[in-house]
Amino acid sequence: MSGGKLLKVAINAPLSRLFDYLPPDDGECRPGCRVRVPFGRQKAIGMVMELASDSDIPKSKLKKASALLDEQPLLDDDDRWLIDFTSDYYHHPIGEVVSTALPALLRQGKPLASTIRKVSATATGAAANLQIIAKRAPKQSTLLELIRDADAISFAELDEAMPGWRRLKKSLIDKSLIEEFETSEDADAREAFANVEQTAGPELNPDQARAIQTIRSHGGFRVSLLDGVTGSGKTEIYLHLISDIINAGRQVLVLVPEIGLTPQLVTRFRTRLGIEPVLMHSALTDTERLAAWRAARRGSAQLIVGTRSAVFVPMKEPGLIIVDEEHDSSLKQQEGLRYSARDLAVVRGKQRDIPVVLGSATPSLESLQRCRENAYEHLRLPSRAGKAVPPLLRLVDMSRHASSDGLSVPVISAITDNIRRGEQSLVFLNRRGFAPTLICTACGKIADCDRCDARMTVHAAKNQLLCHHCGANRAIDTSCPDCGSECRPLGEGTQRIEDALRDRFPADDIARIDSDSTRLHGTMKKALAAATAGETKILVGTQMLSKGHHFPNLTLVIVINADQGLFSTDFRGSERLAQSLVQVAGRSGREAQQGEVIIQTAFPQHHFWSELMNGGYERVAGAALVERQKAAWPPFSRLALIRAAATRRQDIYDFLKDARKIAEDQNMPEVRILGPVSAPMERKAGRYRAQLLLQSRGRRSLHALLTVLRGTLEGCKSARRVRWSIDVDPIELF
Ligand code: ADP
Ligand code: ZN
Ligand code: ZN
Repeated sequence: MSGGKLLKVAINAPLSRLFDYLPPDDGECRPGCRVRVPFGRQKAIGMVMELASDSDIPKSKLKKASALLDEQPLLDDDDRWLIDFTSDYYHHPIGEVVSTALPALLRQGKPLASTIRKVSATATGAAANLQIIAKRAPKQSTLLELIRDADAISFAELDEAMPGWRRLKKSLIDKSLIEEFETSEDADAREAFANVEQTAGPELNPDQARAIQTIRSHGGFRVSLLDGVTGSGKTEIYLHLISDIINAGRQVLVLVPEIGLTPQLVTRFRTRLGIEPVLMHSALTDTERLAAWRAARRGSAQLIVGTRSAVFVPMKEPGLIIVDEEHDSSLKQQEGLRYSARDLAVVRGKQRDIPVVLGSATPSLESLQRCRENAYEHLRLPSRAGKAVPPLLRLVDMSRHASSDGLSVPVISAITDNIRRGEQSLVFLNRRGFAPTLICTACGKIADCDRCDARMTVHAAKNQLLCHHCGANRAIDTSCPDCGSECRPLGEGTQRIEDALRDRFPADDIARIDSDSTRLHGTMKKALAAATAGETKILVGTQMLSKGHHFPNLTLVIVINADQGLFSTDFRGSERLAQSLVQVAGRSGREAQQGEVIIQTAFPQHHFWSELMNGGYERVAGAALVERQKAAWPPFSRLALIRAAATRRQDIYDFLKDARKIAEDQNMPEVRILGPVSAPMERKAGRYRAQLLLQSRGRRSLHALLTVLRGTLEGCKSARRVRWSIDVDPIELF
């Protein structure tokens, strides 16, 4: 490294460059340490990314960092490399990438580990006769006993165990019975990893054994796509691989989708591996998140299980990265830094030369195509592990069967039979609320949101119309605002289906699980426990129910309405629909009984259904890949979106036209520039939205164009009146 005296600092600001500072007066300022710096008229916390010997700014004008916040670098060279890469690849300001990578408390300038004050008994204290002390000072004796029992105990723990103890502390110290000392949180956490009783797993079947063998045979970096139907024993394979790595003294990172981190999965990791997994997800408090981050960085966390942002967590000794449900869209952040945790996991694996395992029952077309190109290894698990057999799929033609409240006659009788057999049914519908909208029976007026180009959803229980896009709400119209006639809910949501089922089946047997019903803390856990125990006979829910859960007694899955996915305008429509159907179907018949899946559709002749029924997900994916190749959509091309939003419609188009002009001036024939076009829902929460789509066969030219765009747009006048962003490899085209 050059013996440079200047700091190149990343600061959380929407500018894609580092800022130069002189080092602070005290301490050795190394890359990876945080500094407090003057920034504009304020102070900011920055991350030293590199040291340099010169700056574009004359030395006399450079400001000095006011304080060094870390004695040891928080981020090592590899961690900073990943941040640099992410900032480059996603064309996102580096300071904001650092912000995403750091836990909130570190972002705010708090120390990595605070010191904890503790007390313990001295030798005298340990030998003292408590009864004698108790005669003259009963409280002191109680306190001494508490401290003796605990070996060493923190002030915080004592505050809880014996309020008011601090008043007694001095007397015990004066008598040399106890002593005070300080430790760091780090030293403390070392003992926090409980010993858990370990249980043995099932004997591996030949497919599983082969997959494990293959992955083990790769010494270093190699991506394996574990493509196995639900229940084929993918998690079982993870457990074996994780155990190898942990026994070799290295760490494993497991990334899961937002709703994939179920208590069931965590319990399975814990009991099978005999260790306490360190969790990183959105429900943690800031302090818990920091503790997890610290444990990963220090190396004491052997297994880290987290949602997408955990992909940035520093690890002392990484040995393996697993991405479960690699197709899941929640692995891609849809705002701010729009990164894909799956793709960054692969980048990280390559950088550290360690294996990466991507698992899914419905792999993304991107990953399948990488397998076809032999860039990834395709490991298939075609059948369910153990005794379970795949569920039977059946279509109900809604144009031929009578239905009421969205439930057809064959569906009602299938549920009735299933209950009679003592088995459980799941009714799946990806729309919460009572009905998708309210319609006037006379003039056909539909209840729209005032702030979005969207319909209001009917929430009958609260007597409300609610916009699922911006949260706006108002009372249900009793009569049509235009003609005064009666209004009626149109279509079905989970609540309406639940009501309809309650009319026909005993209420105690039915439970609805969606984000409305589980908003209260703990209700989700309770509902899931009852469902797992088999007490609930009919589960009604959204995709919340379709992933990760294992309901042993569930044998029937009903899909109320899949048709909107058949005619999606998004080129990913059929991939998405097949994924969600296969995932929810995977809940059925996971143990010995035969499972069944019934799908209601008004278009049973659609080619999608014959592909799915005859060849499963693989066939749908194969057909979709052919179409994508013809149309040059990903994975056969690269996309980037320039999005813009503003309260004035004209502003977004002015900006996007400027962006288009800049792009055209670069003269890159291999990049197609499409737009500007309005987003499918042009107005959302009172803002107009539009976009420019860039499509390119190669990554390099697209990347070069985006670099120019980012740089030029940052200084562009029309950019000041809009909110704009770049989305590289977008998964939603709006
Ligand atoms: P996936 O992750 O692919 O959905 P799991 O690993 O959760 O599959 O396995 C599904 C069920 O089958 C679990 O109950 C698991 O304990 C069981 N299982 C997995 N592998 C085997 C095996 N080789 N023999 C018997 N049962 C197995
Ligand atoms: Zn009307
Ligand atoms: Zn709205």
